[in-house]
Parts: sequence; C-alpha cells; structure tokens
Amino acid sequence: MSHERQSMSGKSISGSFSAGDLRRMLSRLRDVMAGVGAVQGRLDKVVALIAQDLRADVCSCYVMRAGEVLELFATYGLAQKAVHQTRLRVGEGLVGEIAAHSRPLALADAWSHPQFVYRPETGEDFFRSLMGVPMIQAGRVIGVLVVQTREERPFNDWEVETLETVAMVIAELMAATQVIKREELAQQEGNATLLVRLSGEILHAGVGIGCAVMHKPHVRIGRLVADDPVTEQYRLHQALGTLREEVDKLIDTSTGEAEGSYGDILEVYRMFADDRGWINKISEVISSGLTAEAAVQKVHDDTRLRMMQINDPIIRERVQDLDDLANRLLSILAGGGLRVELPDNAILICRSIGPTELLDYDRRKLKGLVMEEGSPTMHAAVVAKALDIPVLAQVQGALSRIDALDQIVLDANAGQVILRPSEEVLEAYHAAVEARVKQKAAYAMFRDLPVVTRDGVKVSLNINAGFLLDMQGLAETNADGIGLYRTEMPFLAMPTLPDVTAQVALYKQVIDGAKGKPVTFRTLDVGGDKIAASTVSGPEDNPAMGWRSIRLTLDRPALLRQQLRAMIKATEGQVLRVMFPMIASIAEFDAAHRIFRLELDRHIRDGGKAPRTVKIGTMLEVPSLLWQLEGLCKRVDFISIGTNDLMQFMFAADRGNTRLANRYDTLSAPVLKMIRDVVRACAGAGVEVSVCGEMAGKPHDALALLAVGCRNLSMSASSIGAVRAIIRSATLRDVESFVLGALNSDDSSLRESFREFTRDRGIAAV
Ligand code: PEP
Ligand code: MG
Repeated sequence: MSHERQSMSGKSISGSFSAGDLRRMLSRLRDVMAGVGAVQGRLDKVVALIAQDLRADVCSCYVMRAGEVLELFATYGLAQKAVHQTRLRVGEGLVGEIAAHSRPLALADAWSHPQFVYRPETGEDFFRSLMGVPMIQAGRVIGVLVVQTREERPFNDWEVETLETVAMVIAELMAATQVIKREELAQQEGNATLLVRLSGEILHAGVGIGCAVMHKPHVRIGRLVADDPVTEQYRLHQALGTLREEVDKLIDTSTGEAEGSYGDILEVYRMFADDRGWINKISEVISSGLTAEAAVQKVHDDTRLRMMQINDPIIRERVQDLDDLANRLLSILAGGGLRVELPDNAILICRSIGPTELLDYDRRKLKGLVMEEGSPTMHAAVVAKALDIPVLAQVQGALSRIDALDQIVLDANAGQVILRPSEEVLEAYHAAVEARVKQKAAYAMFRDLPVVTRDGVKVSLNINAGFLLDMQGLAETNADGIGLYRTEMPFLAMPTLPDVTAQVALYKQVIDGAKGKPVTFRTLDVGGDKIAASTVSGPEDNPAMGWRSIRLTLDRPALLRQQLRAMIKATEGQVLRVMFPMIASIAEFDAAHRIFRLELDRHIRDGGKAPRTVKIGTMLEVPSLLWQLEGLCKRVDFISIGTNDLMQFMFAADRGNTRLANRYDTLSAPVLKMIRDVVRACAGAGVEVSVCGEMAGKPHDALALLAVGCRNLSMSASSIGAVRAIIRSATLRDVESFVLGALNSDDSSLRESFREFTRDRGIAAV
C-alpha cells in the first residue's frame, strides 16, 4: 500500500523490533482485549502497550462514530481530558486524512504537513513525528491508530506494516467486543419505529416483500494471533484446497443446467483461487505471527483498498469478486457452516455480493437483493437479473440502518427500500405483488393465443436473450423465436474470449433450446456500457461512442472470424441468422459481410456442411444509417432497430444516465416518424424489419410501433405477456388513425394522450 512518508535520517521509532517482537506484542494485545472489565479500560491498556512496545511517546485510538466523525477513544501520551472530546471529521486533520483515503501516513515532521490541525485540548504541542494507519474491519474504516514521538523521526515500511497489523488486530477485537454500537445509529434515527425509506439505483426492477437477512455477516475471526506459523500455513493450504473444490463443484453443478452461462463467471474465480501472488502474500503475513484467517483478512483488506483507489470500473468490479473469494476462504477457515438458512421471504442485505455467493442461496426463497455498493455490470447483478430477483444497488445506509429480520419492502420499480412499513403500506404492496402474480398467471394461460389485433393483423413477437437461462423464456411465452441473441453476455465475465470449440458448444445449446424456432445471433457488442475486460484496451472519454462493438471486432478481425466460424459450425444444415451491431456505414457492413463469406467458404472447403439458409442483417443503432438505407437494403436480408442506442444518439442522451431517463420519450413524433421511414424503406426493398430495443417491450410503445408499420418485435421474455395482451385488445385501424394523426405534434411526448386514447377504446395490457 502506498503511503506518504517523509524521508529523514535518524533512529527508527521501534529500534530493532523484530517479527518475534511483533508476535509477542500481538499475543499480549489479544490477552488484554480478551480480559475482563470495561471496554474503555481494556483499550487504555492496549494503547499503553503499543506505545511501550513501539517505543513511542504517544499512541491514540480514534474510532469512527455516526456521522463520519472520528472520536479520540483512548490515548497514551495525549491529555486524558481530550478522550471522547476531540473529534475530527473524515478528511479533517491528519487523522481525518488517513480515514478519508484509507491510507497510512508516516511523517517525521507532522506539523509541516498541510493537513495538520492543532487541537490544544490534546496537549500535542511536544510531539513532532506521527505515523497513523486506518483501522479496517469488514472492508470499512472503523477508526485510526496513531503513534507519535517527541523527536523528529522517520518511519520505515516495516514499521508502517507493523502498525497496520496491530490496527487490524485491534479492529477485529473491537468489533468482537462491540465497541461500536449499532444502537448509537438507531438513536440518531430518532424514533426507531418510524417508517424509513432508503433509495438506490435499480439494477433489476420488481417488488419483494420479506424480512431482512444480512448476507453472511462478516466472518468473525476467533483467533488472531498464532504461536505456531507452521500449523497456520498448513491450515491455509488445506483451506485453499477446499476452496478450489467448492468452486469446481459450483462450476460442475451450474453447467448442463439452465444456468450454464454462470460457468463463465465462475471460471474467473478459479483463476483468482489459483493466483500465486495472492497466496504468497497471505503466507508471508502468517509468518509474521497472525493466524491463517487473520492473514487472509489482512491481505484482503490491503488488496481491496489498493484496488478501490484505482479509478477503473473494471478493477472495482473485480474487487467484489475478490471479496467473494476471501469471504469463502475465511468461512472455510472458520469451519464452514456460514451458509444462512433463509426464511421463506428473504431480502438479502449486503455491502456487495459475489455471484457464487448469490447462487449459494435457495433461489426460491430469495425475494430481493439490496446492496450498499454494486453496479449494473457486476456479475451478481447479471445473475440476479437472469433469476428475476429485484435488485437495488448503491443504497446508502443499508447495512447500518437495516437490522436482521426487519420487515422490508423492496420496491425496485421505484428504486427504494421501505423499512418497518406500516400495515397500510404492507397491504398496498401485497396487493400489488398479488396482482402481478395473477397477471403473470393470466399471461401464461394466454401463451398459445395468436398475436393478432382485433382487425386481424398478425404480429410476430420474439424474445431477446443473452444467457442460456433466458431460453426458458422462449418456452414459457411461446414467442416466435429469438429476435436478438446478445452473444457478448456470457463473455463479459471472461478474462479471455472462449475458443471456437467452446463457442460452438454454446451456440449449439442455444439452437437446440430454440427447438426449430429462428435465432438471430448478434456478433460481439462489447465496449460502451458493456465492458469486457478481455477486449477493451483502456479507458475512453466517451465509451458509448468509442471503440466498441463492430468497430472493435473489425479492428480485431480474429475475434469476429472465430465467432462467425463458431456460428457457422453450430448451425450446419439449419437456418443461420447473423446480425452485426453498431454499423454506421455501408463500408462497415460490407467489411463484416466479407469476413462472414470468407468463413463460410472456408467451412465448406474444409468439408463442413453449409447452413440450410443464411440471412445476414444489421442493427440500426447509429443515426447515420438512416440516410444510407437505400444502399444498405440492397445488401441485407433484415434490419433490426435497436432503439436503446438509436435513442441515445438521436437525443444525445446517455442511456445509462438516470437523470436523463425521463427527459425524452420514445413514444414521440420524431421517433415514430423515423421508424415509419425505416419501415417504408425496408418494405419497398423487400427487407425484413424488426424492433429489438426496450421500446418494443412497452405495451403502449409496441402498439404505436404497429401503427407506423412494424410487424415484428423482439423484447425481454417478461414483456411478451403484456404486449401480446394489448395487441389482442386493439383494433389497429383505430390506433393508426390516432398515431399517424399525431405524427406532426410538437409535443415532446405522446404518452399521456395515447394512454387516454387506449383507455377510451378499452385497449388494455391485461
Ligand atoms: C439497442 O441498442 O437497442 C439494442 C437492442 O442493443 P443493446 O441494448 O444490447 O445495446
Ligand atoms: Mg445497442
């Protein structure tokens, strides 16, 4: 870990303090903390002991209190009257600085540091040098441990590391003895029975009602200090063996089943679990006198903080994976048995969670997931989505304000968690959930009814898929096929792209799962908001408009060739539909098409069987294509309008920015006019056209799309029921007269007026 250090000559603070000394000190600290008496008394002894062993004039322990304030909790060397009086905000003074950046400071002359703040009540006038380290517990800074000396003295890396080890041990002991009480936070909230709402970012919409289950409460490390490093090394070795077995088992049980694609994510774990660097570091810390579990925790805390300081979303997401793995290893060392039995309706609360941990829970009992951290592309979110569990991320205060077994409503449609809901609130939500369940059952009953309007216009409904798990949706909805298969989905978790053989196997499973229904495979669409660590070269200022998708695969033709080769092999003798994403010019389509032809020729030359039929198409996501339709239509068999990207480029509005989410409406004249023109151009040229963006899955938008000529829509499986129902309840002639009449409207949205129109005509999604 990097830390600021002033280099000066002089005697080191701890003299010839050795690994053996450290082991002895840790064992004395353990005895003091485990002793009897008030916590304050024990902490007083601890700081005195550290000061004495490290030959410092001062040792102080600051503890993080509610409101991000660091309180001087115990000191040896500073004025006792300052204890519980001196408080520094995070970021204030040197102590606040250490907490803010989770980073040690080692200063020969603390007074000359720009962040230095003088607190007269502490009587620190006489102390020049300072070394402070964060106290970390369960990945959070819970305080700061500081030593000071009268003399100006430098500190070396060994001393900083020693203090870090001591701080880590104290942090764990403090947590075990509950120095930081949750009641304090409860008191701050005032009336504890008051309904509390916490808001967060929606990762997967839906409503879950149930009771809070704290995800694997941080593994409490029973023993911190070990007298026999050899035994600890052996324990580590054994635990790593079990860890590998567990991950292998997860991989085995998740392939072959519907969750096959999780295997890709889990492979990344195997990589971590075999990482020599990580294992060696743990081993080294064991040699300094900690138990295997304390060493795992220490190395994990260090790595975590270092990774969190890197401003790169991919690295930050890997932090969650590392948390997952370290927790797993800790629980093995703690003797396992940490798997929490879920009550029937469980809402899981956590800081963050790894995909393997999520898969460990009984999915039937899991009704929601609330995270203090988390991001849309984290692996657990991908898994939760596939399992259809509502998920909220970035919920500030989730861990401190929610207690185990609290009644909770997770309204991931509105982006909020309601704690301790009143009877009325609960009733309202129960009614909403029940209505949703009934609606789903009704849609399931209507799955075989034809998708046709009252005036006899037939519409093809297809699903968008990306995981093998999504294939179930095809059977459940009886949709006509897969209008968009996002091939990049399983690859997002991989360190490298799978080879051709693995891809062939995956695509074959998709084709087999579709049971003769058409599947449109889209080639890799990575970059932008879909980041694949394997292919992205570095951060970009504007990734959505950057080196992504077809641009990337045309520049790395081997990727595209391998993928196309795999698709051709997987569809021998059957229909092959291939679609290229983010095409912005005819030249790009031609280049991609040429690669496809090369691969097809090669396949046949090598004695392979040709697909029965080949259809090649493109996504329409980039507005420039709108003025190249004539030429494009001469080349393609089909066009699929990707309204998600097309909208973001048309309105210059980042699709991932929630602040802009409601600013522009798809159900508006410019969007519908544009789609009308595309449909006309395609019809004139005899080219199939469909819409596969989110717009197609919203019932009212879907109807409006029919009005401007669309007859083929592709959406997530969960939207099919509602769209089928609204189409069956509408007379297209009427809808056309309303929508076409509104195409010259200057309103930014037609949504309200269209809703009113459908209400008046008795058109409904149920
Ligand atoms: C789209 O852009 O509309 C689309 C369907 O592609 P994706 O959402 O995968 O970018
Ligand atoms: Mg797109």
